[in-house]
Amino acid sequence: MRWTQTFIPTLKETPAEAEIASHKLLLRAGLIRKLAGGLYTFLPLGLRALKKVEQIVREEMDRAGALEILMPALQPPEIWQQSGRYETAKGVLFKAFDRAKKEWVLGPTHEEAITTLMSGELSSYRQLPKNFYQIQTKFRDEIRPRFGLMRTREFIMKDAYSFDATDEGCAAAYQKMFDAYTRIFQRCGLRAFAVEADTGVMGGKFSHEFMVPAETGENEIVSCDACHRSANIEKAASRVAKVPPDAVPARGAGATSSAAPEKFPTPGVVTIEALAAAPFNVPPERQIKTLVYIVADKAVLILLRGDHQLNEAKLTGAVGTAAFRPAEPEEIFTALRAHPGSLGAVGVKHLPVYADEALQGAAGMTTGANEDGFHLRQVEIARDIQAALWSDLRLVRAGEPCVHCGRPLSIQRAIEVGHLFKLGTKYSKALNALFLDESGKQQPAIMGSYGIGIARTLQAVIEQSHDKDGILWPIAIAPCAVCLTPLTVAPDSAVMQLAEKIYADLTAKGIDVILDDRDERPGFKFKDSELVGFPIRLAIGEKSLAKGEVELKRRGGQMTLVKIEDAVPKVLEMLQS
Ligand code: ATP
Ligand code: MG
Repeated sequence: MRWTQTFIPTLKETPAEAEIASHKLLLRAGLIRKLAGGLYTFLPLGLRALKKVEQIVREEMDRAGALEILMPALQPPEIWQQSGRYETAKGVLFKAFDRAKKEWVLGPTHEEAITTLMSGELSSYRQLPKNFYQIQTKFRDEIRPRFGLMRTREFIMKDAYSFDATDEGCAAAYQKMFDAYTRIFQRCGLRAFAVEADTGVMGGKFSHEFMVPAETGENEIVSCDACHRSANIEKAASRVAKVPPDAVPARGAGATSSAAPEKFPTPGVVTIEALAAAPFNVPPERQIKTLVYIVADKAVLILLRGDHQLNEAKLTGAVGTAAFRPAEPEEIFTALRAHPGSLGAVGVKHLPVYADEALQGAAGMTTGANEDGFHLRQVEIARDIQAALWSDLRLVRAGEPCVHCGRPLSIQRAIEVGHLFKLGTKYSKALNALFLDESGKQQPAIMGSYGIGIARTLQAVIEQSHDKDGILWPIAIAPCAVCLTPLTVAPDSAVMQLAEKIYADLTAKGIDVILDDRDERPGFKFKDSELVGFPIRLAIGEKSLAKGEVELKRRGGQMTLVKIEDAVPKVLEMLQS
């Protein structure tokens, strides 16, 4: 590849649209350009890198025994209605209409499509196990497309779907994908690790995400260094010490071991902090926080300790749907006849009450009285709050004890690059992917689903691997492994003739080389090659050539002089190491 013949529109200035380093570098290195919010064009070098990631993914999927297919992006809405996701995923579904005004769905993922395929093909356990994958474009109406390729409306995903006759078979298929992912990210030069993950509206029981640690990541990972376990914060649990029942708040101190809660006036006090301050002095862990949510059009109460936050992903599991939202003030008033800040669950019988486990057995608590300007103290949950449905609803905080070993947990930010789900039979039942087992009984196939964001992976590499001058590509996915930089480009010069010869030699050996044949100052060319981040640079100048030498430099390393005849073998050696 010759620089003058391709198209690498590098930028000196950082484009205003980019917030994070990898997005800035994708634009500055001339790898991508924006068409509209969350929609990007891959330019020649960007596409080369993308295809290399794609190829690594393809090789590892093939190696794991998955079969490549290609499904349509356009899908009939009927299969989405059949699975139930026409409703539950409606927030992200892009829809299109044909000339007869019939509606179509642009696939955000392909569980429905693959299961429909299998419902037509599958008949016997003898056809199983099978794992199909594709590398294909997905469409999602993201609330906030951002950070370049990290979150786009249209993106390339590798998605694979396994079908098994038994749970053990499905576990084996899952493990194969887990191992393939480990190799894929390693080969891409990415430091990624697996964390336990929430399954969201997808359903199913078993799930891991592959995460790349990064300050700019949109996920939070909770880890125990002692147990070497990590989980997405959506899923993570911790051990929280119960508040001792005798530690009664100051103002109520020694006052009662009454048979009922005691109502007291709290004019204008509508926050946990205000109740924690003088004159009330009720510590947050002694307060019950009452939230009102609308779940499938009905109000429910959610109780947490005053110092704890709700984890909405856990609420999905508790209520069995992701179709919920915080109630509006009017809805709250209709439900409890009081305004936020004075809400509580004492005596509430007409609404379901979901309570966080950390409140179990709590006594001597303070909560809103469902009367503006009043609270109740000496609340004993078991005695005063009816039929609470207990589950873990709490967001873990850094420093809380690990549930397994009790050591403090840490939290770090990360980018999700891949996801593994065991789906079970949700889709095979809904869309009839059935088979006859050995005893002739009809069974739904047991499924798994496995995704990798190809472009997000590419950008995660840049986010993890760059310096002030530009990208530091791992050789395996660099757009070109070697940048050959003659410092004079006159075709009949000795410098250019040597450059042409080395270019031909390396190319013949199957190495991706770019020949920087631009008639520009050396400094300018060097800056560009650092910015784009080619792993190896081989520069040829008149001075060193006169001494029979060329300049070899690994991106991010020191320049060394090597004899002309050693140049190609040395480059090959560097590419191996
Ligand atoms: P996120 O939580 O980041 O929205 P997700 O959990 O919805 O992602 P999956 O359905 O698990 O994503 O998709 C599999 C993979 O596809 C993700 O691990 C990620 O690498 C990639 N991906 C998902 N959404 C996008 C997007 N909007 N833009 C680019 N890549 C994406
Ligand atoms: Mg995911």
